[in-house]
Amino acid sequence: MSREQEVVQACPAELFIGGKWQPAEGGRTLAVEDPSTGTTLREVADASPADGLAALDAAVAAQAEWAATAPRERGEILRRTFELMTERADELALLMTLEMGKPVAESKAEIAYAAEFFRWFAEEAVRIEGGYQVAPNGKGRFLVMRQPVGPCLLITPWNFPAAMGARKIGPAVAAGCTMVIKPASQTPLSMLKLAELMTEAGLPAGVLNVITTSDSGGVMEPLIRDPRARKLSFTGSTPVGRKLIEQAAEQVLRTSMELGGNAPLLVFEDADLDKAVDGAMLAKMRNGGEACTAANRIYVHSSVMDTFAAKLTERMAALKVGRGTEDGVDVGPLIDAKQRDKVKDLVDDAIAQGARVLTGATIAEGNGYFYPPTVLAGVPKSARLQKEEIFGPVAPLTAFDTEDEAVAMANDTEFGLVSYLFTNDLTRALRVAERLETGMIGLNQGIVSNPAAPFGGVKQSGLGREGSTVGIDEYLELKYVAINLD
Ligand code: NAP
Repeated sequence: MSREQEVVQACPAELFIGGKWQPAEGGRTLAVEDPSTGTTLREVADASPADGLAALDAAVAAQAEWAATAPRERGEILRRTFELMTERADELALLMTLEMGKPVAESKAEIAYAAEFFRWFAEEAVRIEGGYQVAPNGKGRFLVMRQPVGPCLLITPWNFPAAMGARKIGPAVAAGCTMVIKPASQTPLSMLKLAELMTEAGLPAGVLNVITTSDSGGVMEPLIRDPRARKLSFTGSTPVGRKLIEQAAEQVLRTSMELGGNAPLLVFEDADLDKAVDGAMLAKMRNGGEACTAANRIYVHSSVMDTFAAKLTERMAALKVGRGTEDGVDVGPLIDAKQRDKVKDLVDDAIAQGARVLTGATIAEGNGYFYPPTVLAGVPKSARLQKEEIFGPVAPLTAFDTEDEAVAMANDTEFGLVSYLFTNDLTRALRVAERLETGMIGLNQGIVSNPAAPFGGVKQSGLGREGSTVGIDEYLELKYVAINLD
């Protein structure tokens, strides 16, 4: 058996409910594919709505005891999870690359990033504060406590199969919540493996329940409408998020929504262009462009456009595309044929509207869903990729002349997750940062993700924040006791 087969076969493939691995109702399974070859890696359990309800039953049954667990104990379980993930990073990264496609080095970076959420929330578990306050009339007192919100429903996408779950499980465990998590059907293995590892780290039965299914809507909607669920945290596309908010309205469920992005990246004439190119490469090419934080629109001052475009094109053209398990590969395949076709359509549309291809745009023959790193210049405002998430290795360049024009173009979207800003003028940096309508801004850097920072968007990019000291608040309710000392 090859190392790849060993790692895949060592991964659990059943549902994890109430601390037990079990097949789906009727023994149904769904196939998990390797996007670099299009072949099936493994069959995993394909949950039915009844399986989903069983998972919620288990989360509900475990809630009271889990909420009463000492915060230190919850923190220690998270800390051990961090340590186990760090020790087993090679195996976890290979598993992730096989199901998702990104190069192993990037998968390792994601495992490290995901593990950091467990370390961070291990530290936060013991810092859940309350308050005691004298009422303005001097007679009353307010005692404020923060308690776990209750059983949570967590739904995650395929692009970061471990980190998007870790950002939710970490704070939920720290806060004392139980949960049902549904990873994306295309990348369930990383989450199943994480559940196994958290059990080894000491997580009691029923706290984390994992449901894998090809029928996300059919399985999750009854849970979202079930009055026993108290919280929904979703990471994924804006259209699905919108639908889930509607479903959540029935029970007035608390929701956290990490939705789509359409990040602008602004390069001003006073920027350090080498730094700006480094930043653009990171903001564009992390995860092969399949990131909600990916620079989707690159606006460059017209006086530096030619130099910037030449430098970026040289870097993009030098990237090696291939199977993520091969040495020296920089860019893996896209997740599936549909995603590759979408990227191709967006590029074709931009070209039809006058964009010039500086590199890429031609799909090579062969298996797997590969798309070449592409740079487009002179992309008009009307091109579809200025409005829609590309989710692929395509950098569209558009020139601007004034700061006002740059800010207006940057804000001309219903999304508001992140923007990037390159300038060496401090006052401009602050002025523009205040005007950009996004939840996060990378100033002279192409990455904003950090477990210690509040990650999240405004406008249709979502509700709530993950990570930072505020991340745990999404899983806590405030309760206050009014006291009369008169
Ligand atoms: P998606 O289609 O919205 O799916 C996300 C998750 O929702 C998957 O687990 C999916 O299951 C599930 N799902 C789909 N329809 C559902 C329904 N009706 N009811 C319940 N669950 C449902 O998004 P994606 O294509 O996987 O991920 C890419 C999107 O995620 C992009 O828009 C990206 O910007 C966004 N994203 C945002 C962040 C952030 O932090 N803001 C981070 C990463 C990604 P199936 O796999 O079975 O379809």
